[in-house]
Amino acid sequence: MSEEQMIIKNNLKMVQKLLDDCSTMTKAIEEKKERLVDAMICPKCSGDTKVIESRYRDIYHDGSYIKYRRRICLKCGFKYKTIETLLEEEK
Ligand SMILES: [Zn+2]
Repeated sequence: MSEEQMIIKNNLKMVQKLLDDCSTMTKAIEEKKERLVDAMICPKCSGDTKVIESRYRDIYHDGSYIKYRRRICLKCGFKYKTIETLLEEEK
């Protein structure tokens, strides 16, 4: 193999590695986005979760409240809280 062919071969290897890295990063970003959007999925292991407690807490002086839900991951046992809130009124 000539020196030129060696250089081309090495460059191709580098390009392939960059493509692999990009694909890994894209996948990680997609997974993170999914976790941000779907709080019903365990933020640690992406396992299914269930509600173990729902409660209301007054937090505003006008009497409005936020509903908390405590969740537990069925896969790894991680416990966390989510809140339910009004986004917009449907017409
Ligand atoms: Zn989990």
